[in-house]
Amino acid sequence: MTPAYDLIVVGGGPAGSTAATAVAMRGHRVLLLERETFPRYQIGESLLPATVHGLCRILGVADEVARAGFTLKRGGTMRWGRDPRPWQFSFSMTPRLSEPTATAFQVERSRFDEILLRNARRVGVEVREGSPVRRLVADGERVRGVEYTDPEGNRRTAHARFVFDASGNTSRLQGQVGGARVYSEFFRNLAVFGYYAGGRRLPAPHSGNIFCAAFDAGWLWYIPLRDDLTSVGAVIAPEHVPAVRRDPRAAWQDMVRACPEVDRLVADVPVATEPPYDLVRVRKDYSYWKKTFWAPGIALVGDSACFVDPVLSSGVHLATYGALLAARAVNADLDGSVPEARGFAEFEARYRREYGVFYEFLMAFYDMERNEHSYFWSAKKVTRVDAGEAAAFAELAGGLVSGDAAVVGTGRLDAHWRAAAAELDSAVGRLATADDRINPLLAARVVGETFRTGNELQEQALYGGPLDAPGPAAPGGLAVAADGLAWTVP
Ligand code: FAD
Repeated sequence: MTPAYDLIVVGGGPAGSTAATAVAMRGHRVLLLERETFPRYQIGESLLPATVHGLCRILGVADEVARAGFTLKRGGTMRWGRDPRPWQFSFSMTPRLSEPTATAFQVERSRFDEILLRNARRVGVEVREGSPVRRLVADGERVRGVEYTDPEGNRRTAHARFVFDASGNTSRLQGQVGGARVYSEFFRNLAVFGYYAGGRRLPAPHSGNIFCAAFDAGWLWYIPLRDDLTSVGAVIAPEHVPAVRRDPRAAWQDMVRACPEVDRLVADVPVATEPPYDLVRVRKDYSYWKKTFWAPGIALVGDSACFVDPVLSSGVHLATYGALLAARAVNADLDGSVPEARGFAEFEARYRREYGVFYEFLMAFYDMERNEHSYFWSAKKVTRVDAGEAAAFAELAGGLVSGDAAVVGTGRLDAHWRAAAAELDSAVGRLATADDRINPLLAARVVGETFRTGNELQEQALYGGPLDAPGPAAPGGLAVAADGLAWTVP
């Protein structure tokens, strides 16, 4: 029996909307089931240029996002590392990016995610909100559909050739693919966050930057969302759970007060009282990945598959990029050009590599902050990563870290991290006196590598060519079709 749909996507966040849109754009039948009714709240407000100018353009929604009035983000300002003074990076310093595409946005996710979901509907995706998926429908061979509850409370079943789980960090379906999540010991953090009804801004042209400030207990983000709205969150060690659980608001405000740079920016500014920004929320922002991102008939995309610490604002980029990679596999299978197993293997290899590059970079970045008296920061020394975790990560990276097929042993991985940390450290040391227009941090090789895929996506989306590296990512791998929406055999 032919299933009613080619693809069912579970979850309408950035990953789900991206995957559904990319498959519907090829004329296939796509059903997207979302538990909530949009707009709904979500954290993850600071975007990267690759999402705004790359993915959004591919999905045909870049102009609408640009018109939505989100805060323009030119880069980040950091109080981080040896230098006690804040320093900044601009996206325009990233190799190959130039104005006006060297920018991103700080977004209210309720609005941003709704724009992406409406766009999915516009290109033909059948979107059903208020429809939580309960379980997968599978037989011995493959996943064949889902069971969900419709808005009237009726149990329904829908069948498709493929199912994507894009239901985020709380996914209940991901456990059925590739065993349990592997959690990083290194990035075992807790985030407590809330909103101010305003807040001082950094001097122009950096007034839209994300500001990240390290302090004894961890680090704080400060994201200007609107003139009258600022997102402020603390990333701290899980040891603070009891205090945060007792009184999240008091714990959040204590953290803000403990960081003089952020405290000054919100002095005398009232906390927000408009819903949904009136609450102080808590998230375990533990980083994790799956040993396998797919099984016959199903792929995991976005936070369902993996997540890495938010300091570099990589979450939405990784989620949407991974979703595009998986959509290419579905499109290639449906047009008969590349069988499922080969297409999903390419998806997984490229997705793991991108995740691995950010993971590696973030470890080096954490290692930059010197604060021997702080429990949080001394636990973040790269040299203290235990061998078990390094081995687990080497397995995840599968020899693809930084494109170096030989990097599989933990010793070499460790050395690689240390070299990356040293490189960043010396770059940041020089930065104190440098004009940020020639920011040496962004000239560092590891940074170039980190933003490489995003830059390629963005560049090629703008110039209409094939998307990201058009050739195979590894020997024997697949190439990208001219429209960027499928794999081809090179
Ligand atoms: P989500 O955005 O979580 O979307 C999943 C969707 O699935 C939701 O709409 C949900 O309602 C739906 N759903 C769940 N279960 C079901 C079900 N059973 N049936 C149907 N639908 C279901 N990223 C950034 O890019 N920038 C940042 O500044 C940033 N800051 C962060 C700060 C913190 C503290 C944390 C924890 C994360 C941050 N992130 C950031 C990461 C970002 O939040 C995520 O990476 C991103 O939202 C992932 O998108 P997604 O589509 O995979 O999942």
